[in-house]
Amino acid sequence: MRAEIISVGTELLLGQIHDTNSSFIASKLAMLGVNVYYKTVAGDNMKRLKAALKIASTRANLIIISGGLGPTVDDITKETLAEFLGYDLVLNQKILLDIKNKFKRFNVKMPEGNIKQALVFKKNAVVIKNKIGTAPGFIVNKGKKIFIILPGVPEEMIQMFNSSVLKFLKTKVPRKIIFSRILKVIGLPESQVNKMIKAQFESYRNPTIALLAKPSEISIRLTARGKNLKEVKKIISKVQLEMEKIFKHNIFGYDEDTLESVVGGLLLKKNLTISLAESCTGGMLGNRITNVSGSSKYFLGATVCYACEVKEKLLKIKKANLLKFGAVSSQTALAMAKGVRKLLNADIGISITGVAGPTGGTKEKPVGLVFMAIDTKKITKSFKFMFYGTRKMIKVQASQHALNILRLYLLNLL
Ligand code: ATP
Ligand code: MG
Repeated sequence: MRAEIISVGTELLLGQIHDTNSSFIASKLAMLGVNVYYKTVAGDNMKRLKAALKIASTRANLIIISGGLGPTVDDITKETLAEFLGYDLVLNQKILLDIKNKFKRFNVKMPEGNIKQALVFKKNAVVIKNKIGTAPGFIVNKGKKIFIILPGVPEEMIQMFNSSVLKFLKTKVPRKIIFSRILKVIGLPESQVNKMIKAQFESYRNPTIALLAKPSEISIRLTARGKNLKEVKKIISKVQLEMEKIFKHNIFGYDEDTLESVVGGLLLKKNLTISLAESCTGGMLGNRITNVSGSSKYFLGATVCYACEVKEKLLKIKKANLLKFGAVSSQTALAMAKGVRKLLNADIGISITGVAGPTGGTKEKPVGLVFMAIDTKKITKSFKFMFYGTRKMIKVQASQHALNILRLYLLNLL
């Protein structure tokens, strides 16, 4: 079965709201093993919605539409579909009474506009009950094609999809499931990741491989289809193993894992505490680490030592050295990591100092230059990075790599 999703609403085209309905529907269809090749957004306009329906019916046999079932004049989805299919709409007294009763509960008389919500397709359709709102949805058949219309309000659409549409679709599609596993890679640029798995990328069809890039983090998504969970998991495991051999310790986690959650797990396991000295990241690293529940067991605290005086006062860094090497230097990064570890009496000290830009860069110390250091009983080491992008992107990348340094240390890979 091939499906297409149409979201109706001018506000979607104006960028005023996000089209979360189609994402929800698409993810549900994927789980059922239904292919979605196209999604369309159409405004509240009969002519253009008809054009979208026409195109959709040439390339899909299941068309799911959300939005435009309300009581106002710009709600035209049902009328447009009826016209497009050449079907008649008739008033259904039972539904009308239902709607009237819903208003009665709030002591309000039903506005005239709501009458049209009780119009149903005269033939070839079943009604989908709306338990939350007033507009019913429909599953409409025309030849071999199925059209499903649902209200735009996400809560109503989701409730109706889960309670009725899913059940209906399960009778239509052969039982196949789709399962995805995400492998998260750090420390390699997207082009490099792409190159390393080019052969698999181009030839594998089950599972398919997709790359998703974030600042300093690449997700490799493996998606498999099969008859049951056991089968898809087996298909995934085989390729996952292959990827693990290629990327080794550059893979830091899977699925919902984040660098901070992985690092947190390792710190707990090793029973170690950490302290941070953050300059250019301004507390972002501490924020990320404390986003993990249970971080109080290993995170002692951080100094956001932005000004040189604070680096001197709190971390006991010598003014002469700050002047000699500069705030953004490997020497200062090392002194910060040592200073904060001592100040907070932690097992590990991590520091970050750099030029986040967009101003403040010089020829010797350009925007994006970031130094980091780690200080522990076993090692004291500094790192130099050159990041690109906006101020926010440079901060995110710096926090990513600081977490990765910590991870590699905890895995004895530094
Ligand atoms: P109503 O009875 O409220 O008029 P409706 O079925 O006519 O419902 P719309 O008017 O298209 O639906 O949308 C109602 C509200 O639902 C929108 O203002 C918006 O907040 C939300 N909505 C509509 N379509 C989507 C969508 N594709 N994704 C997320 N939210 C949506
Ligand atoms: Mg509406």
